[in-house]
Amino acid sequence: MTDYLESLNEPQREAVLNTEGPCMLIAGAGSGKTRVLTFRIAQLMNKGVDPFNIMSLTFTNKAAREMRERIEKVVGHDARNLWMGTFHSVFARILRAEAHHLGYPNNFTIYDTDDSKAMIRSIVKEMGLDDTVYKANTVYNRISAAKNSLIGWQDYLQNAELMGDDTANLRPEVGKIYKAYALRTFRAGSMDFDDLLFNTDKLFKEHLEVLNKYQQRFQYILVDEFQDTNLCQYFIIRKLAAVRQNICVVGDDAQSIYAFRGADITNILNFERDYPELKVIKLEQNYRSTQNIVHAANSVIKKNRAQLPKNVWTANEEGPLIELIKAVSDNEEGRLVSNSIFQERLQHQLKFSDFAILYRTNSQSRAIEEALRRMNIKYKVVGGLSFYQRKEIKDLLGYMRFVLNQQDEASFRRIINLPKRGIGDSTVDKIVVAANDHSMTIWDVLQNAAPFVGGRSATPIEDFVAMIKRFALEVERKDAYDAAFEIAKGSGLLRELYEDKTVEGLSRYENVQELLNAIKEFVDDPERQEKDLGSFLQEVSLVTGQDEDKDKDPDKVTLMTIHMAKGLEFRYVYIVGLEEDLFPSQMMLSSRADLEEERRLFYVAITRAEKRLFLSYALTRYRFGRLKNCEPSRFLDDIDQSFIKVASKFGGLESTPPPTSQYAKTLVNGIKKTIASTPVAKPPAGYKPSADFAPSDTSSLKEGMKVEHPKFGFGTVLQMDMSGADRKARISFGAVGEKTLLLSFAKLRIV
Ligand code: ATP
Ligand code: MG
Repeated sequence: MTDYLESLNEPQREAVLNTEGPCMLIAGAGSGKTRVLTFRIAQLMNKGVDPFNIMSLTFTNKAAREMRERIEKVVGHDARNLWMGTFHSVFARILRAEAHHLGYPNNFTIYDTDDSKAMIRSIVKEMGLDDTVYKANTVYNRISAAKNSLIGWQDYLQNAELMGDDTANLRPEVGKIYKAYALRTFRAGSMDFDDLLFNTDKLFKEHLEVLNKYQQRFQYILVDEFQDTNLCQYFIIRKLAAVRQNICVVGDDAQSIYAFRGADITNILNFERDYPELKVIKLEQNYRSTQNIVHAANSVIKKNRAQLPKNVWTANEEGPLIELIKAVSDNEEGRLVSNSIFQERLQHQLKFSDFAILYRTNSQSRAIEEALRRMNIKYKVVGGLSFYQRKEIKDLLGYMRFVLNQQDEASFRRIINLPKRGIGDSTVDKIVVAANDHSMTIWDVLQNAAPFVGGRSATPIEDFVAMIKRFALEVERKDAYDAAFEIAKGSGLLRELYEDKTVEGLSRYENVQELLNAIKEFVDDPERQEKDLGSFLQEVSLVTGQDEDKDKDPDKVTLMTIHMAKGLEFRYVYIVGLEEDLFPSQMMLSSRADLEEERRLFYVAITRAEKRLFLSYALTRYRFGRLKNCEPSRFLDDIDQSFIKVASKFGGLESTPPPTSQYAKTLVNGIKKTIASTPVAKPPAGYKPSADFAPSDTSSLKEGMKVEHPKFGFGTVLQMDMSGADRKARISFGAVGEKTLLLSFAKLRIV
């Protein structure tokens, strides 16, 4: 039963056995953090803790499933009762039971980013704003960042600059859009992804009896990849753990790669402050990779200023050197990488599944995929356009969502005229406007539509309402599969697709069948307790890229972005597209902090490899439809050169001259000029950088003091405002002018 303890090193065993009280494992890549968490849960269960009382939060639902399977091997079937999953899925489950406290229906709909952006787009239009300034994507990101920093629309409206929003002058109406969006989604009985966290925090803040219930239930809380939690997530788990304080977090500050989505490494520092009794355990032995890979990774991350000191080492073999593949074009890069995989697999009798190709952005997969196909190498792209994002799938899911929640505006818009039933856009707009004007739900208007839309449109709407009511009865009476099938058939969707005999039509029909199959599997799964359609919809709303990897043939090369590869390991890893502006990404390079985040991403990529690591770049590449000259990434120089060699047998560089065009050159020069002329705040002479831009202790901050902000550069405090619950400072920054910042959020450093 406790054999697993034998397979642990000393600090790992300590982390597994010390199950009581707050504990933090800050440890290097591949040092067994996830493994320790798994065994710690097994240990708790062996000690007699009910799995129902254990909550474990992971980066993907797939990671949670794998963890559960491993625990099951040690402790048996009970493991299925553990509360495991992503923050989003675990808290969605809690909200399912408690949302009524916040005025939401318990069968609330979960909006994906497309739904949210569509809603924002229509609000921007209705408000008469310029949609080239208020791009749905930009506005969505602002709202998302606000929610993840626990700033509701009321606070945002008061002062957008509280968040350090440097685009507030450019887009003064974001606060108003935020308000309209929040009220609209609320009235639609819907939550977006960020609401799942924001509302959980709100629920626990405003309903102490509910918080108390979950504090009693979750006696043990475990968090993997803690470095990538954001403020909102941290506040939630801190509240849940407040009574028992049995909270164990594991992470690696060097692998923090989600700052752009609000993740905050300073949670690691806060954790030490919030739990004075904290037991901190360090793991430094890497079990995953060869010495060459570990040393190369160390030499890269050393270039970052912001990091906690760690000395990752390994007792594994030295291994071969890292190989550098140079290609003249992106297509040649694909070819050389495919060749290499083909040869290595034959030579060392490997499986395709031993290989992974990692890239910075999804669009890079095209050239690689073509080359793999040409060589008959089996591969799968993880992430990419998801099955659940296909139109025909979203259409059918839209029906199901609307049947379960008839307030849902996004689903209403999607299905009302699908298949065509003579209800045009202007009628739809009238319905939405009527609902907004009278503070009614869409469903209220639909049930009595004639006064709003005129008599002629009223008849098809009445038919639609009757159909939805019929479906709602089916959902009540039948299991998820039978109900879904009725909806697919009864709505006419299935017939419409069936009648389309084009190749695309056929594949859409098959996709819908596949969705029905998935629901059937869901219903037939003996492990599952909740089998209703609502539970199925919740699950598919929250699939993350990695989760979808349900490929029947397991022997395939894996293609994915580095973000998606977090926590995984492969024998052979190819990191492709190591070029300036691509990796590090040009879009992410507005400050040193951004460059450091890109470098951590490179570190994550390197540390996925067990035996062999290949790096590649191309001298030209098609980007945004144009041929572009590329330079090798600066990250290649970050690696200690004694761990790298150039892959000689994959030449081609000398034989084929790079296909340059005058246009490509002009373009490259243009970009370089833009970068050169962008002002960057320079540190004063003699300035020594601090270890990190944590919100440092600003309690001694006074007017006239000099500070540094990671984005705005250096500034002088003009005025302090201590009146509200939150302390603010008005600061004049040389580069960007005056800003008012909330001290608990602004990452200020006193210079
Ligand atoms: P990452 O930072 O990438 O998330 P991690 O710290 O979570 O990595 P794990 O994935 O838990 O590391 O472990 C890395 C590999 O090392 C796994 O294959 C694991 O089985 C192995 N491993 C960890 N500890 C030991 C040990 N004591 N003995 C043998 N193998 C180990
Ligand atoms: Mg891990």
